[in-house]
Amino acid sequence: MMGFRIGYGFDVHRLAEGETLWLGGVLIPHEKGTVAHSDGDVLIHALCDALLGAAKLGDIGSNFPDTDSEYKNIDSKLLLGRCCELISQKGYEIVNVDSTLCAQRPKLRPFILEMEEVLAGIMKIDPDLVSIKATTTEKLGFEGREEGISAHAAVLIRKK
Ligand code: MG
Repeated sequence: MMGFRIGYGFDVHRLAEGETLWLGGVLIPHEKGTVAHSDGDVLIHALCDALLGAAKLGDIGSNFPDTDSEYKNIDSKLLLGRCCELISQKGYEIVNVDSTLCAQRPKLRPFILEMEEVLAGIMKIDPDLVSIKATTTEKLGFEGREEGISAHAAVLIRKK
């Protein structure tokens, strides 16, 4: 079991009307979107934090500061690609990814397969190694009130 490391990430973004909703690299049709410095893709942000954490490379904020105009409205898929490069440079490869999106609305199940394929493509791994789940929070909390969306991600990496 030498050389295996786990990582965990969590992210939240506020929802507002007139914004776009990107989740797992897929544009979701909805009357609200996420408010953020980047494109606000909570799932990708949680996944980036999980990857960086697994390799002890800090977090998304320390690697891509939101005070830096380079990252304003940036496509989060580019951030995920960069995180994969960083862990690869440190000598690691991804074993598998598991994640959960928490949103009351919209229904996310129809988009899960596409998200898994998009994220697997960026990480250059088989879609079978990427799991995305979606849940409501039974109308409880900020997700339940549709004020925001949260995402959790866990990854396993190993020395190449
Ligand atoms: Mg974020």
